[in-house]
Amino acid sequence: MLTRVALITGSTSGIGLEVAKEFARRRYNVVLNGFGDNDTAVREVRCASPECNVKFIQADLANAVECRELIQSAAGAFGRLDVLVNNAGIQHVAPVATFPEDQWDRVISLNLNSVFHCTKAALPFMKEQRFGRIVNISSVHGLVGSANKSAYVAAKHGVIGFTKALTLETARQNITANCVCPGWVLTPLVVKQIEAKAKESGLSYEAAMEVLVGEKMPSGVPASGEEIALAVAYLADERNVSTRGVALNVDGGWISQ
Ligand code: NAD
Repeated sequence: MLTRVALITGSTSGIGLEVAKEFARRRYNVVLNGFGDNDTAVREVRCASPECNVKFIQADLANAVECRELIQSAAGAFGRLDVLVNNAGIQHVAPVATFPEDQWDRVISLNLNSVFHCTKAALPFMKEQRFGRIVNISSVHGLVGSANKSAYVAAKHGVIGFTKALTLETARQNITANCVCPGWVLTPLVVKQIEAKAKESGLSYEAAMEVLVGEKMPSGVPASGEEIALAVAYLADERNVSTRGVALNVDGGWISQ
């Protein structure tokens, strides 16, 4: 039986790591990428599914050449590439008036440009296999704005627009492209923002979390990484052929207000 291969960018922590575990549990071969403690990430994915094959490939995806190299190496690792989850992302919080130019470039390079570079490099493999599933991790910030997050909001809106254009280009093939749009998910990226909020407002960490989550999410609780992983796995399922160009919000009601 064919074992499908999933590459999840930025999967050494947070949402990406949970997505990688979900694919391992579903018996995919899994390719991880990201910075930080990759040994622990590989161990955690193997723990989730001991018989699954896992490979880690280092690449800085803010760099176009490294995006292309990652895709080539990932496709080479297990001989094919069925699922690409463009997940790696960073945040920088500052008003437009003082937003540092280098931070703008870094956020756009990673959160938007890498989605293009990785997808472009993956398409020839998917076309040859006559199968591909691309899931882009956008955000509720791909659908609505928030003050002081201009680069992030611009990039995440861009990811949804990119996914729609790609959907039209691949519509006659068994290659689909969709987005998942999480609200707050308790990961290192968000923990940093809670800490910043606590520092700026003099609140405790718990109180700052309640303020951040409660003001945006009617549910009052952050989504879990597992919930995002389930949405990704649904969109990547080979039986799911007609769901195309979707931006699936997993946001506790954020954008329903
Ligand atoms: P995280 O910080 O836990 O993980 C980010 C991952 O990206 C890590 O593996 C990190 O090593 C990797 N990474 C960072 N820079 C990289 C680079 N230059 N090249 C390759 N990998 C790099 O963050 P997270 O919260 O899990 O976020 C994952 C994705 O989900 C991001 O695209 C983020 O915008 C999106 N998202 C997160 C939330 C949330 O509340 N956490 C909400 C909406 C969307």
